[in-house]
Order: sequence, then structure tokens, then C-alpha cells
Amino acid sequence: MTIDTTKKIESLIITDQEICTLAMDVIESIRQDFNNVYYKFLGGELKVLWSNQNKFNAKASSSGDLKSPPDHSVTLYYATAIRIYRDGEDLYDFVSSRLNKYSDLFEKLNLGEPSCLFKDLEKEHFVKNFFFSGLTYLFGHEIGHLVQEHSYIRRFFCDSDRNLNASGEASEIEEIEEIEASASSKQLTRRQSLIWHVTELAADHEAITWCLFELVRQAQEEESIKFSQDDWHRLKENTLIFSCAASCVHFRFNGVKAVYPDEFPIGTHPHPMLRIEKNVFQIISGLEFFSTALGINSSKAEISKYINKGVISANIFWIEKYFDKNDLDSGLLMLGGVINNENTKKYMGLIVNEWEIIRECVESIKRYKPFNAGNQDLGLMFFDENFKKEFTK
Ligand SMILES: [Zn+2]
Repeated sequence: MTIDTTKKIESLIITDQEICTLAMDVIESIRQDFNNVYYKFLGGELKVLWSNQNKFNAKASSSGDLKSPPDHSVTLYYATAIRIYRDGEDLYDFVSSRLNKYSDLFEKLNLGEPSCLFKDLEKEHFVKNFFFSGLTYLFGHEIGHLVQEHSYIRRFFCDSDRNLNASGEASEIEEIEEIEASASSKQLTRRQSLIWHVTELAADHEAITWCLFELVRQAQEEESIKFSQDDWHRLKENTLIFSCAASCVHFRFNGVKAVYPDEFPIGTHPHPMLRIEKNVFQIISGLEFFSTALGINSSKAEISKYINKGVISANIFWIEKYFDKNDLDSGLLMLGGVINNENTKKYMGLIVNEWEIIRECVESIKRYKPFNAGNQDLGLMFFDENFKKEFTK
């Protein structure tokens, strides 16, 4: 073993404490950006709290008082940051050493050879990117809840005991907690579940939009004016890692339990495969949009194959690690499986219709819009006509 190789291996060993420091640094820098660019001008503040509790969790808290400056806070958990990092390490090892045994499945899905997926990626580069992507996505999801005032929306649309008037009177601090995705203690009515699920998917959408813009910004060499082929390669690679990280975060939140789709919303959170599939749809469309806008003109088929390959690998990793191997044959693993599933079609029909009503309210109370293109707020969940037809026919 050469000295250089020894160094490389040592650099891969990172303590939990070091992971927590990395996590706090990256989140603090994002928090400051949000405060300087948005909250300062609204007279409000975005705070971040870190919890020592050993939970995979995140929370968004807001006063829900729309007449006062936004008083928003996000609670993150050290244990969650550590888990995301370790999942990145485990996924890399799995893809590098054991994914090959699924080559038949890859062939069936027309995704090529599984082994070449991370062939150009060093483990340390992959794991760090996975970690930052997963953590940023999680933080972005909480910001999505806050910027769209989902605690207000949930009360306004379904809590008749504390029915708010449309002017947004003050109320006590409301919290939105992600751990409810894996805890069944919270009993919701059918109506509440629908509103909860719609707002979860809307927060996912806001987070994915933000992360895609960040990925594009980071991929471009600082001095260059034009987005080069090298920049595009970097963007694709980082988006692949981001897609894997977002999938693992969703699986982790769901806990180690079966992931079968229902025909109507149950509990507080949508099931992970549906969220993953919807995210992938948005990620592929987003990359296609950037490819055209940046003059790269990569085909949708090529983008799709690349991203799907990453997400399928992350899904196989998760299912092999925590579920019965038979689940690999259930159809739930495959992208397109959820869309083609009759239960999920009915489910998405309910979501699409409800969002049409909620969207208007969210639009009217949203106090800052990080991603505007023309008159369109790209952070707001959007279903195009083809998508709507697919789920409401
Ligand atoms: Zn959420």
C-alpha cells in the first residue's frame, strides 16, 4: 500500500462528531442566506435548532400569524445527520460491490449495466455529496412547509374547532413533524389526511425546486459565462447523487415497514415510493428544462435513463437491506410502477383536485417566492394538463 492510498482511506473515516460539525456548518450558511435575502426584508427571522434526541426527524414551527413578520424555525436532529451520512457510505459500498447481481433487472428495465453507475465517483466525493444533498433536501422540505404556511393551511382547511378566518388571526405556535411518517400514533380523519398529504407533497416540490437551482449554481465554473459540457456533466452527476439521497431520506422516514400504496390518503405522510416517483418526475423535467435553457440540449430519454438508474439502485439497496426480497418483484420498486397502479391513480386524483383549491390560498399567503420565472412561482406544486388527465380519468 502506498502512502497516498493510506491517506485516502484514513480520510474516509469520519467520526459522528465531525459529521455533526459539517451538518451545522452547511445548515448555518443556508440559514444566513435565507435571512439576508428574504426574512430581513420582512422583518422576521428563520431560526435553526439542533436536537440531541436519537430520532430520525425534522420539524418546522411557525406562529401561523400572517399579520406579523414571519417567525419561523426548523428543528434538526444530530442523529438524523449522522444517519444520512452513514446511509451514503452503505449505498456506495452496495453499488460498488453487490449491485451487479441485479443485472437481469437492469436489463429488463433497459437501464444498461448496473456496475458502471458510480464508476467515475470516488467514495469520499460521493458520500459527502450524498450527505449535503440529503440534508439540504430535508431542510428545504421544512422551508417548504414554512414558506407556504402549511400549519395555517392545515387549520384553515380542516380544523373546524379552531377555524381560522381568512385574514389569518394570530394563534399558538404550530409544529409540523416528519417523524409522524413512521409513527402511527396520530389519528387523523380522512379529510385531515388528505390535507396533510397534499401539503407534504407541496413541501417536497418546493424543496426539489430549490435543490435543482442550487445544483445548477454549484455545477458552473465560477469564471465561465457559458454553461460548458463539463459543467453539464458535473450537474448530471450531482443530480444523480441528490436523487439517491432524497430517495433514502424518504425511505428512512417511513421506517422499516411495508410500502404498499393506498387508494386514499391515510395517516400524516404519503408513502415513500409515491414521493420518490413524483420527485423523480420533477427532477427529470427540471434537468430537461435546464438542458434546453443552458444550450446543452441533452435528450429527455438520456436524462431519464441516467437518473432512473441511480434511483432504482437506491431503492434496491433499501429493499434488500430492510425488506423481504420478494418486494423486489412486487412492481413497487420500478419507476412507473406507482403511476401504473390503480390504487395510486385514485390517490393522485384526490391530491390533484384538492391542490387546485389549496394552491390559490397558498399563493395568496406566501410571503417570499425564491423561484419566480416570469409570473410563475416554480416552488408551487404544479400538475400539467397531461398529468391531470392521467390521474383524473
Ligand atoms: Zn413534511
